[in-house]
Amino acid sequence: MARLLRPLLRFAGAARRGTRPCSLGACASYRLRDGVHPLWQSPITIPGGKRQSPINIQWRDSVYDPHLKPLEIRYDPATCLHMWNNGYSFLVEFEDSTDKSIITGGPLENNYRLKQFHFHWGAVNEWGSEHTVDCKVFPAELHLVHWNSCKYQSFEEAIMEDNGLAVIGVFLKLGANHRGLQKLVDALPLIKHKDALVEFEEFDPSCLLPSCPDYWTYAGSLTTPPLSESVTWIIKKAAVEVDDDQLEVFRMLLFTPDGEEEKRMVDNFRPLQPIMDRTVRSSFPVQPRLSVDTRPSEQMYRIQEQVPFKETAYL
Ligand SMILES: [Zn+2]
Repeated sequence: MARLLRPLLRFAGAARRGTRPCSLGACASYRLRDGVHPLWQSPITIPGGKRQSPINIQWRDSVYDPHLKPLEIRYDPATCLHMWNNGYSFLVEFEDSTDKSIITGGPLENNYRLKQFHFHWGAVNEWGSEHTVDCKVFPAELHLVHWNSCKYQSFEEAIMEDNGLAVIGVFLKLGANHRGLQKLVDALPLIKHKDALVEFEEFDPSCLLPSCPDYWTYAGSLTTPPLSESVTWIIKKAAVEVDDDQLEVFRMLLFTPDGEEEKRMVDNFRPLQPIMDRTVRSSFPVQPRLSVDTRPSEQMYRIQEQVPFKETAYL
């Protein structure tokens, strides 16, 4: 455990010095305007600690698994309940007593029910996502959280168990206004303060997903306490476009409840965690990407070395 806490403590120290903590020397550092959220101001006990999230996805080190199936997503807009500010992000929550809104396929062996979705974002557009790809940081990241309704009776039971959760991660990048996201953005002023809740019905979050089916998947954890290592992560390769005005409305939310000194809800991401001995699988062939440090002969070698993934290892 001491070995596992050390990197976290180092990250926390780096954050207090005003940079975005990062486990990878190749990554740039980022200034944090508002310091560390109370969530990360003291050491956190991590159960196990061998598969923590988020991570930097190294494109070239990911392994194509031709056995990975397409992810099937079936959301019923009628299961959408409400939206609320939990003091760290805003959550849109769903009715999950039946299998009306589920994902299946992909790396998953069971149906997983949609519980909620939320976002992580930065104080500025230069950072905000939790995961990174080849150290590239996005302005924000969407997480759609699902629980295994075949093995467990409730989200609360699944959260601490093997194969309990499946989270889809989607990067947000700057571009055109996102019409689906705008429905959320328009309601955000109603939940400016911590603990504020507003009804939010008939919303299909599949409108927030990119059309490209490609994804990476790896075994990880929640990125907020209890940090349980129960998550099969499915990170979409393609980002969705949102515009600057939409992200600015995210930044008008507050960490603080009504009546307290206002603290803007920004930089609500967890620092990168060590990948340790995990493999990131891709649902798509890893194409050689030309860059200054890419040697064609090495790329060819890596592609030939790729072998089908042993399904039992992570599922
Ligand atoms: Zn999240």
